[in-house]
Amino acid sequence: MSDCIFCKIDRGGIPAEKVHEDGDLFVIRDINPQAPTHLLIIPKRHIPTLLDLEDADLPVIGRVYDVANRLAREHGFEKSGYRVVVNCGAGAGQSVFHIHYHLLAGRAMKWPPG
Ligand code: 5GP
Ligand code: ZN
Repeated sequence: MSDCIFCKIDRGGIPAEKVHEDGDLFVIRDINPQAPTHLLIIPKRHIPTLLDLEDADLPVIGRVYDVANRLAREHGFEKSGYRVVVNCGAGAGQSVFHIHYHLLAGRAMKWPPG
């Protein structure tokens, strides 16, 4: 999608350091971090929300969690713990309508998240 921030970042139209990239997804640092480590794991296909997932996307969604685990080990927060969050819809706090998984770590997490 031409006017999507995350599609633009993927194409290099908006500068962002890619912490990880492969054929299916990429990872960037959140511009407004909510924890000492706040990464966004972003499938490359323009899927607006979790509700728009199709069967063909499901292997990529599995890979999101594999990449989260790899990042946890690489960045050394696999023992202290981390949170993976996806907001689905404006009412849940989604502001960028290209599916992405927040990976938060480096501080104690509260529950419920609010
Ligand atoms: P959402 O609110 O949709 O769950 O999460 C969107 C996230 O994208 C927010 O945490 C916001 O800070 C982040 N974000 C929005 N625009 C940009 C950008 O241009 N670059 C980066 N790195 N993050 C962004
Ligand atoms: Zn997009």
